[in-house]
Amino acid sequence: MQVYFLGTGTSQGIPVIGSEHSVCKSKDSRDKRLRVSIWVTWNDFSLIIDCGPDFRQQMLTSGCITMDALLFTHEHADHTAGLDDIRPFYFKQGKDIPIYAHKRVLENLRKRFDYIFEIENKYPGAPGVEIFEVVNNVDFTIGNKNITPINVNHGNLPVFGYRIEDFAYLTDVKTIDDLEIDKLKGVKVLVVNALREEQHHSHFSLQDALDFIHLVKPEIAYLTHISHLLGFHEEVQKRLPSNVFLAYDNLKITI
Ligand SMILES: [Zn+2]
Repeated sequence: MQVYFLGTGTSQGIPVIGSEHSVCKSKDSRDKRLRVSIWVTWNDFSLIIDCGPDFRQQMLTSGCITMDALLFTHEHADHTAGLDDIRPFYFKQGKDIPIYAHKRVLENLRKRFDYIFEIENKYPGAPGVEIFEVVNNVDFTIGNKNITPINVNHGNLPVFGYRIEDFAYLTDVKTIDDLEIDKLKGVKVLVVNALREEQHHSHFSLQDALDFIHLVKPEIAYLTHISHLLGFHEEVQKRLPSNVFLAYDNLKITI
């Protein structure tokens, strides 16, 4: 299984529009972060987790030319705003694109992208989706792989992280119940969000993320959903434990 980090930035991305912050002006390509998303592939199967406002650019840069399924963590715009841009996949593949999300997220998408979900008198240029509801505590299958939803709290909002075999992807976490942590037992590669040093009401700080990694004990961990306030990639990386890495856009890992 291959995981390609399409974006590793927090909701505004880095650089932030109009920002004079030194990280926003950094020349290091690893300090340029699009909104979070990953592309997971195995055999010939291509799965995207979240499609934020940078989706089109991410598809072009990564060279992703097929999408067999789209899985959502939650409805916030930085994870969903690019949904219209699944159109080229829909046209090329000639069938509805399977999308997987919590019922609340599907309802939210139906409201915001009503023309995509339209059944009668649908505009011919609109993309089509096939809907699959993700239910807490119920594993499901995508492309013959078992997926375990992990229920985490993004402040007051419950959001899903996902475990696929030895790999787990958790973004926008602030708190997580012990029963959900149990579902991560034995995971080898863990991706988790770390916003900045300072505490935040709905995101792990760097220390929150490191404490969580210490609890889950993966072989290797990657941090994502990063704010420019965390600092320069190169400097932050030097301060991390030897098995913890800052993810960066276009990083590819094999699990
Ligand atoms: Zn987010």
